[in-house]
Amino acid sequence: MSETIYKMVTDRIIEQLEKGVVPWRRPWKNGTPVNWVTQRPYRGINSLLLGLGEYATFKQIGEAGGKVRKGEKGQIVVFWKWIERENEESGEKEQIPFLRYYKVFNVIKQAEGLKSRRETETFDHDPIESAQQIVDGYVDAPSIHYKSGRAVYYPELDHISVPPLKDYREAEEYYSVLFHELIHSTGHKTRLARKGITQGGVSFGDEVYSKEELVAEIGAAMLCGVAGIENVTIENSASYIQSWLRVLREDSKLIMYASAQAQKAGDYIYSLKE
Ligand SMILES: [Zn+2]
Repeated sequence: MSETIYKMVTDRIIEQLEKGVVPWRRPWKNGTPVNWVTQRPYRGINSLLLGLGEYATFKQIGEAGGKVRKGEKGQIVVFWKWIERENEESGEKEQIPFLRYYKVFNVIKQAEGLKSRRETETFDHDPIESAQQIVDGYVDAPSIHYKSGRAVYYPELDHISVPPLKDYREAEEYYSVLFHELIHSTGHKTRLARKGITQGGVSFGDEVYSKEELVAEIGAAMLCGVAGIENVTIENSASYIQSWLRVLREDSKLIMYASAQAQKAGDYIYSLKE
């Protein structure tokens, strides 16, 4: 893969990172956790805390004529509340974030009397040849399974599960998501043995995990660059990366580290094509 594409993509990402806050990346349309009443998807950490499905509070379920089953436990949804406080030393007013939560129940699995309100929407796409070639060219690729709602790589099984092409409004997004998971898979112990993948028990939000996410996202952006589909996907990638940079207090060295690792990973998938 050419140096220029790597550099171009990295520069473009850094440029995008300097813009405002944007929602997390989840480009597929079907299966994501939503509020049952509004059908709006949960964002950020909440989309990771909840399983796939439709959720509502105990009260919302009751008001809609449903009933939470006996013994069912609610799941936590968090939000930040900003509280103004006086700084003890400077006397200046400052905004302090407090984490609050409430509980929701899966309307279909944990309650009675209510039906799904979700309308699944599917899209007709032809595969994008240049992108599909990269996928097919990954010689010792992990197994890939297509299932709506979640994109994930399982290191222990060396297995990828991604929403199918018809779940995305843009075919480019499908490849961007698939590339992200393929890049993760290059970290497998039999391939490049990256710490974020080989080290068990890595949990959401910690530094090793955050770094691996950056590697995957930058690597995916690079492969999109190679396939010539980067214009559609790069803004989403940048917003995803930004959320991780925020976790790590916008450490500028980090993106350099991640870019280098992403380049290796991208080469692993693509090198045999050149
Ligand atoms: Zn990932």
